[in-house]
Formats: sequence, structure tokens, C-alpha cells
Amino acid sequence: MTSESLHAVEDESVGLQITRRDFLKGVCGGLALSAIGLDSEAVESKEKDESPFDHEVQRRLLGFVAKTMDVVLDTDVISLPTVVEAETISDADFNQMIGFDTEGHRNNLFFPPSCILLLKKSKAHSLVHEYVHYIQYNYKGYTDGTTDEVENQAVRIQNIFRETGEGVVR
Ligand SMILES: [Zn+2]
Repeated sequence: MTSESLHAVEDESVGLQITRRDFLKGVCGGLALSAIGLDSEAVESKEKDESPFDHEVQRRLLGFVAKTMDVVLDTDVISLPTVVEAETISDADFNQMIGFDTEGHRNNLFFPPSCILLLKKSKAHSLVHEYVHYIQYNYKGYTDGTTDEVENQAVRIQNIFRETGEGVVR
């Protein structure tokens, strides 16, 4: 399936992060600022559609993942993940992050330590998947994102959320 090949791309990019950390920090830092700028509008509209870009939804999803993985978040030590729209990254920057030419293709990505790129059309369960990678990296010591173990756990918790977590996002 397509999603499997996307995961392969995603995990490869995680493996590349060490050499690209400074670059990624710069990109994610700038985007975080613009994301914060948009936040007040999102909060004012109470008609939330469970968008993974809604900060309240993000808070609940991260809480769900942390609880499922038996982790207590320590936000004084480890910064909360920043979620940005993958489409806002230029082709050139995205290719550099991935490590090869994606020919304009975008997909969901976790960049250690705390940056998540998410396609605009993504559902909540896609963010759950990336949050698993965030907790794996920051709390579980999984610095190699390319293993089956890492990816299988993310898919498993994503599926738990899809089957049982509906009430989490409301
Ligand atoms: Zn993954």
C-alpha cells in the first residue's frame, strides 16, 4: 500500500536527522513561530473539527499517546512537539530534510527532537502515529527510527486510537 512506502520514507528521514539537525532546527523554529501566530484564530472558533492542527486536539492526542506508552511528559526538560503543515515547506527544503528528491511529494514526518510535519489533510490518527515517534525518541531511547520495532509500535498505537480513541478528540 501507499502508506507503507510513505512510512519507509519517513523512517529513512529520521535516520538522517543527526547530520541535518542544525538545518532542521532552523526550519522548525521559523515555522513554529508562524504556527503560534495562527493559534488565536483557531482557539476562538469553538466549532472545532478535530483537526490535528488544533492545539487542544494536539494536547489530547499527545496525552493519549503518553498514557498508552506509560510515559509522564516532562515539558520542563523536553520541549513539546511542534506540528507544522508539510505543504508550507518548499520543495528544496523538503528534499534536503528527506535526503533525496521527492519530486514534489510530501508526507508526514517526525524530525527529532520535537518537530512534526503533517500533511494538511491529515486526520488525528496520523498525528497519533508521529507522537509515538516523538515519545520513542525522547522518552524511550529509540534514536534509530529505521527499525521495524519503532515503526510497528507507531502503527499499533495508531490503530488502537482508531479503534478506541475516538472519544479522546472532542
Ligand atoms: Zn512511522
